[in-house]
Amino acid sequence: MKKNIIELQKKLQTLLSAEKDNYLQGKVANYIPALASVKPDLMGIAVGTLEGKVVGAGDYQHPFSIQSISKVFGLVMAINRIGDPLWKRVRMEPSGLPFNSIIQLQAEKGIPRNPVINAGAILISDILTSNFSSSKFAFLTYIRKLARNDNIRIDNDVYLSEVKHGHLNAAFAHLMKSFDNIESEVPDVLSHYFTQCSISMSCEQLAQSLLFLANKGIDPITKETICTARDAHRVNAILSTSGMYDQSGEFAFSVGLPAKSGVGGGIIAIVPGYGVICTWSPPLNHYGNSVVGMNLIENIAEELGLSIYH
Ligand code: GLU
Repeated sequence: MKKNIIELQKKLQTLLSAEKDNYLQGKVANYIPALASVKPDLMGIAVGTLEGKVVGAGDYQHPFSIQSISKVFGLVMAINRIGDPLWKRVRMEPSGLPFNSIIQLQAEKGIPRNPVINAGAILISDILTSNFSSSKFAFLTYIRKLARNDNIRIDNDVYLSEVKHGHLNAAFAHLMKSFDNIESEVPDVLSHYFTQCSISMSCEQLAQSLLFLANKGIDPITKETICTARDAHRVNAILSTSGMYDQSGEFAFSVGLPAKSGVGGGIIAIVPGYGVICTWSPPLNHYGNSVVGMNLIENIAEELGLSIYH
């Protein structure tokens, strides 16, 4: 087993070295200054396995803005809190549109297509805001517990920038409220959503904290049930069809793993029965996915034969 870990570590290092200059092909998210100022050449990869080991290379211990990867944690929390009635308020279909498109939401009467586009995640934020006395605290506590790390924090600069530039997200919330699909007050819901987007974590912490999704809902270390096997299946299914923005089809085609990316440059990919891969490199392609992260996950999945469609 020790030998396997050393081999995996070497492999990650080799794959990362091959990407050294490829970050130049992407552009760092610049919709808020706090993200635009991140160094573009940072890059890391971590692989967490169900034996509980996390192996990494490069900047895999460097915290970054998890942004939309937070949508995965929020979804699991909301499912655990309210169960199946959730699926009356949000659907499980790919949107076929950019994550921040508002067109569909009005046509579909305030019911978001899925929980990992912005409208869906704001709906989930409403569920958390309405069902926890302090949803932001509950969210951070939940993530810290899953990652076994009490130092995970909210980046206040990112939070303030998100609030300042959050007009489109506010529009989603108001539109859903006008269709009676938001229960709490819109400012509270948005504050929760911006808070969860502003959490900083490293590849190592993310790989560790999502192992339960590769293990039928059970934390492989503590053996605690984080969600049911049925719900782990459902979350993975949604990530497979919608987790990589409007490039989810291509990602399934070329990689074949449930995954979620964020505009901070992170990507997590779940490998059921094996573990979790997390990559980070800030420059993004035109869809909002990290250029280097996409390459790394495709290459490691191919080398280790990890596709779920094999
Ligand atoms: N905070 C970003 C937004 O709401 C998250 C975008 C993302 O990572 O997809 O627009």
